[in-house]
Amino acid sequence: MSFRAKVLLHTNITIFFFMIGLASLLLHLRTREVEETIERDAKTFATLTVGPICEAYDNYYKSGYVKFRELIISLLSLNKKLDNISIYSVEGKELFNSDELKGRKTTTLNGVQKESNIERIKKISSTFTQTADGKYYDLIFPYIEPWGWHRYSVRFLVSKECLAHDILVLRLVVFSLTFLAVVLASLSSHFIVRAMTFPLEHLTATAKTIAEGNLDVTFDVKSHDEIGTLAKTLQGMVTRIKRDMISLKKQKDILTQKNKELERLSNLKTQFLANITHELVTPLTSVKGYIEYIYQGKMGPLSPTQKKGLEVARKNINRLHRQITDLLDFASLESGKVKISLSPFHIKKLIKDVITNLSTSFRDKNISYEEKIPDSIPPVIADKEKITQVFENLLTNAVKYTPSGGKITISCYNLDGAPKGKVKICVADTGIGIPEEAQKNIFDDFYHFDPRHKYKGIGLGLSIVKSILDAHKEEIEIKSERNKGSIFCFTLPVYIGGSKG
Ligand code: ADP
Repeated sequence: MSFRAKVLLHTNITIFFFMIGLASLLLHLRTREVEETIERDAKTFATLTVGPICEAYDNYYKSGYVKFRELIISLLSLNKKLDNISIYSVEGKELFNSDELKGRKTTTLNGVQKESNIERIKKISSTFTQTADGKYYDLIFPYIEPWGWHRYSVRFLVSKECLAHDILVLRLVVFSLTFLAVVLASLSSHFIVRAMTFPLEHLTATAKTIAEGNLDVTFDVKSHDEIGTLAKTLQGMVTRIKRDMISLKKQKDILTQKNKELERLSNLKTQFLANITHELVTPLTSVKGYIEYIYQGKMGPLSPTQKKGLEVARKNINRLHRQITDLLDFASLESGKVKISLSPFHIKKLIKDVITNLSTSFRDKNISYEEKIPDSIPPVIADKEKITQVFENLLTNAVKYTPSGGKITISCYNLDGAPKGKVKICVADTGIGIPEEAQKNIFDDFYHFDPRHKYKGIGLGLSIVKSILDAHKEEIEIKSERNKGSIFCFTLPVYIGGSKG
């Protein structure tokens, strides 16, 4: 229901009930007034006529009935509302009743003859009574003779029915006026509400236009009331929003420009990184190969001192090679050159190869290795080369951050403990662990957390792992406790097509 309809409905209901209430009150007051007039008129009439009636009764009722009858008839015709005149003795006995002139049966007068009502006869008493003939004003007026003797009381029954017509007319007038007032009030309230709600409707329509994104609007409300103030405030808001939008657009353009520039610089950096590492990796691989060759004594025997020196050179060249490879991988992953090429393979076989390659590091640090891979693990489908890199990075870290004598475990789950259609692989170590505050950053580029400056690294290993798994749309999670160890778990999709990798 619209605001206008609601206001109209409420106003009209209020006016209607108010007018009906007012009409009822008026009617009640008017009826009361009419009753009071009847009472007053009847009493005046009784005061003036009670004497002549009683004297005529005494003088003519028995001897000259016609004369008495004439008097009563003329009195009844004098007062049109007067329906009945009756005369009672002080003992309560009905002596005369004007109904006998009309040939009507004498009315039983409310049990006036009863003992209890004899008291009514003795003084002026009035009441409104309901008889079979209608509603009456019942007035008993005692006649006290000039020498103070009270022998008779006269009863006047003044019909209220004769006023029923007046009251009916009154009712009709009052209710017609009420109806007219309701109609007029409804009409005027309709126009007032229309005048009031018109600016509101305009405000609503304009606000809707703004909500649709069009700010080129004007709140056209001229009034100086609250609605006018609201319109002015809204107009001010729109102007401010427009100004802010323009400034935001300018800032957005500047930011877009800056972003483009940053992107260009980042691409240059990545390009540079890729070129430089590529240039470095070839001679480094050659140096690494020769050192390994000499270290193994393939180019002649080495003295223990030479072997020790070469051992140091070997370790450092290995580290440098690893870091350069990481940089190269990072540069190629960042530039988006590396595409994932999916193929099915057995995870157990891949892990075995990686462990064989890293066996020297395990041996060097006296770290034991355990494998918990059930034979029932199905083949997975992923980029074999990249997943090899993931294992290499995770295991290199595990070896690096686990003190001598520690243990590394690789476990695989399929149905129990892995999401549906996935194989879950976990690499756990008993190393130094990662503090909770560092855990959320370890997958960031170049994040190296090493407060005691004990471990060398450039912070790219886990970032590469994350990028590779992201490219596979797979998740990696970490659980770690300080000085107890870390466990990295990731998932790979099961190969549905067959069981050979
Ligand atoms: P880097 O090892 O070169 O610092 P990574 O990206 O491989 O870079 O690792 C980021 C950080 O995560 C490390 O600096 C180290 O603090 C923490 N970290 C990674 N693997 C382990 C692990 N197995 N045990 C403890 N800390 C680890």
